[in-house]
Amino acid sequence: MTMASKGTLSFSEGVQEMVKTALTHMKLPEGVPESVVAGHSVLQVRFPVKLDNGHYQVFTGWRAVHSDHRLPVKGGIRFASFVDQDEVEALAALMTFKCAIVDVPFGGSKGGLIIDPRKHSVHELERVTRRFAVELVERGYIGPGINVPAPDMGTGEREMAWIADVYRGLYPTEIDHLGCVTGKPVTSGGIRGRTEATGRGVQYVIREFFRHPEDVKKAGLNGGLAGKKIVVQGLGNVGYHAAKFLSEEDDALIVAIIERDGVISNPKGIDVEKCRAWISKNGGLKGFSGGKHSPNGAKALEMACDILIPAALEKQITDANADRIKAKLIVEAANGPVSFEGDKILFKRGVTVLPDCYVNAGGVVVSYFEWIKNLSHIRFGRMDRRLDEMRGERIVHALEQITGKAVPDIVKRELVAGADELALVRSGLDDTMRNAYHEMRNVMKTNKKIKDYRTAAYIVAVQKIAHSKMEMGL
Ligand code: NAD
Repeated sequence: MTMASKGTLSFSEGVQEMVKTALTHMKLPEGVPESVVAGHSVLQVRFPVKLDNGHYQVFTGWRAVHSDHRLPVKGGIRFASFVDQDEVEALAALMTFKCAIVDVPFGGSKGGLIIDPRKHSVHELERVTRRFAVELVERGYIGPGINVPAPDMGTGEREMAWIADVYRGLYPTEIDHLGCVTGKPVTSGGIRGRTEATGRGVQYVIREFFRHPEDVKKAGLNGGLAGKKIVVQGLGNVGYHAAKFLSEEDDALIVAIIERDGVISNPKGIDVEKCRAWISKNGGLKGFSGGKHSPNGAKALEMACDILIPAALEKQITDANADRIKAKLIVEAANGPVSFEGDKILFKRGVTVLPDCYVNAGGVVVSYFEWIKNLSHIRFGRMDRRLDEMRGERIVHALEQITGKAVPDIVKRELVAGADELALVRSGLDDTMRNAYHEMRNVMKTNKKIKDYRTAAYIVAVQKIAHSKMEMGL
């Protein structure tokens, strides 16, 4: 269903061109721009794994490091049948810029393994993941101070737990072993709020956008988020959480969900929870009664709507369909869903695009919190929660004494609640996404020639990366 691009640029060349566009607005010393664009290293591994039927299959995977100006480097591991080296390098580069935009002190990396997880048993997946992890650990491509993977397409907390276990087995005396990977189950050193972090981040980005009526107007929209018609492509980890939060908490209408087997549309809004449950049980959208099914998912990207959230794959909006996209605002929850050529067309047509390198950074932000938790060996909020509650109770008591009236229950509950780990994670994520939005906005306000968020985001990132590289003498 991927739109065949008429463009000639590969994914990684497209990302490089986007960065180069930002560089044309910047004055950096000689050598710095080249060093910011260039990738650092790529490891390719091939290894055999015995399948359940007794036969062996050889798997191919990569781990790319784009920039190690900060350590560890960070980035997910993707399991998909179509992964290739170019894609992994492009995603590693995106990680470098993403971390800089949201002030996470990591370099950029990414991993990929050619495998269709749906075609393997859990036992096979475990053997393949563990073997891939051994290959990466042994070559210095996984470690709490060097390179820290996380989930991406086709992987989740289960795979991260296996990787952490492999690392611990190889370095049993390493006290910080849990920090070798993020996105682990909470019971195995993970952090509350990580699973939904990327989708939650997407929600916070859109909320922040709608806090700026000037920006909303420029995109040809008006009012708030409530009632806005949203089309989501991909109801996986990112798309599901974003759609769920936006519909349940912000009253937005999810009017279409595009998946592998087509699209479900409903102008009155789709029940995201029910749709996800249907897909889990039946393997696709077909037959779901909450909307009208059509097998042509690609065409649904062109549906009239306020916001389009591509949350599945790269290169979904290209020069082959960009001139037919009707959404006013595109929020890139996936990595690289709009190609370089497609982006140019959208820009000319005045379609506002919030870029991937900012929009989907929620995952790495909360991964950063998880990594800190692992290195500090203590849950956030453990020391101060009860103290906060006590302070809240005293404030309520003082208020009641001074006014002679009872504080309403709802206010009391908020005042006496000490922040637990989940509340702290959400607060830290929200703050980070808002700050990054403001940084991009300031770039656009200071330099009127910059009219798109993507260029602004790359300028924010390159400024920080270049500064760090220059301080270290490149
Ligand atoms: P996922 O595997 O959980 O979900 C992907 C979803 O897309 C699945 O539901 C799948 O069925 C659907 N899909 C696959 N092919 C499709 C097609 N042709 N049309 C429509 N739907 C299709 O993956 P994810 O973790 O949600 O990642 C989605 C995107 O978000 C990727 O680009 C990934 O790199 C990016 N991302 C993920 C995270 C994270 O924390 N998981 C963080 C940052 C960015």
